[in-house]
Amino acid sequence: MRGPDRESLKQRLQRRRRLILEASRRTTADIDDLREAERDPEVEEGSQSEQEQRKLVEVGEVELREIAHIDAALARIDAGTYGVCRECGEVIEARRLEALPFAATCADCADHEERLAVATRLTRS
Ligand SMILES: [Zn+2]
Repeated sequence: MRGPDRESLKQRLQRRRRLILEASRRTTADIDDLREAERDPEVEEGSQSEQEQRKLVEVGEVELREIAHIDAALARIDAGTYGVCRECGEVIEARRLEALPFAATCADCADHEERLAVATRLTRS
């Protein structure tokens, strides 16, 4: 495999995974704090904190998705398929992997998927 060696790549991904988990634990603690504050009768009607909670939950979902991507990338490293596009089987550009270490598709296929997603959203609305 070209580019950074397996071990340093795995360490990089695992480090990123830990950072996300730490951040999401803080997010969960923030949500608990907000819920706690809502039970406090001293606090005004909680529409602002409700918005805040929703925002925090959304952040949590993004984090979970990224962790799933990282886990999949770690599995691909072990399977020896890391860096190969899931869609077309071509080698993923080194520059792309540098920017997005858990990319599962090459830039072309990612563009294609993105266009499909946009088209699907347009058809639905
Ligand atoms: Zn591809």
